[in-house]
Amino acid sequence: MRSVRFHEHGGPEVLRYEEDVPVPEPGPDEVLVRVKACALNYLDIWVRRGLPGIPPKLPHIPGSDVAGVVERGAEGFSPGERVVVNPSLSCGRCASCRRGEDPLCEEFHILGEHVDGGYAEFVKVPARNLMRIPEGFSWEEAAAAPLVYQTAWRALITRAGLRPGETVLILGASGGVGTACLQIAKLVGARVFAVAGTEEKLQKLKELGADEVLNHRTVDFGREAWRLTKKRGVDVVVDSIGEATWERSLRALAKDGRLVTYGATSGPTPLTDVRLVFWRQLRIIGTTMGNHHEFTQVMELVWERKLRPVIDRVFPLEEAAKAHRRMEAREHLGKILLAV
Ligand code: ZN
Repeated sequence: MRSVRFHEHGGPEVLRYEEDVPVPEPGPDEVLVRVKACALNYLDIWVRRGLPGIPPKLPHIPGSDVAGVVERGAEGFSPGERVVVNPSLSCGRCASCRRGEDPLCEEFHILGEHVDGGYAEFVKVPARNLMRIPEGFSWEEAAAAPLVYQTAWRALITRAGLRPGETVLILGASGGVGTACLQIAKLVGARVFAVAGTEEKLQKLKELGADEVLNHRTVDFGREAWRLTKKRGVDVVVDSIGEATWERSLRALAKDGRLVTYGATSGPTPLTDVRLVFWRQLRIIGTTMGNHHEFTQVMELVWERKLRPVIDRVFPLEEAAKAHRRMEAREHLGKILLAV
């Protein structure tokens, strides 16, 4: 089959387009999906560079977000059906899985991170991870949604408990999870401050519904958050940047505020002024991906067009390296996709 994979870790140049890669062999509860579109996530870049703690199984096919056609069926799915894949993989048997909290499973892993993913003509996935795509949705719209919307939903709704009327500050608002957080927060009825790095992106974020937009290159977002809330602070901060923003994120919070983190793109070890945490009674909340219920809940909202994936650009599979460069340069707004 055609595929893009890497045989060694490194920069975008290690992504190799190949035409003679073996088609994966699905197990008893798995389905073989013919990939039509695969969305990029920042995770793909970490995986390509090499993640500590994840044993290198090379060559590796990245790609977590897949939409396509069932090629070989199992468990109620027939060949030819249009499906989107939930990339959260778990054992399905342990105590966490049984109470529906698969992201807490000891064996939790992600399609394209620990196992071969969707930068390919075919991918194998457990049948229980499939969801049918309704009429009227493109492959790109469907593939753009799963990872970022389940992450944003769990972060804001399940973990941070965002409520109508609250104020939320979103860092990295122009990224995939960022735009998903913005839409979900507006759907809930929250007031949204969106932070990004170019005027063009800020303009787009305004169009997407942000109440206030802040350019982190020209203003101190912490101080601005303080000013815009009349020195009260915001209720929730969504921070996936880590080291470069952590301290200001904490300072931007009101009493009883929540900082929810799902990434550390600028580095993993920021300083925390503990006095700020106890004096303002802050909560620091970690989150990653989503459980199956959160996935279906948020995808239903996508199918109802209450949430609309923001698509940046679509590249042909062969140009995966070019797509990675665009993402690494942070030129994109919303999702970059590969058409297979
Ligand atoms: Zn489990």
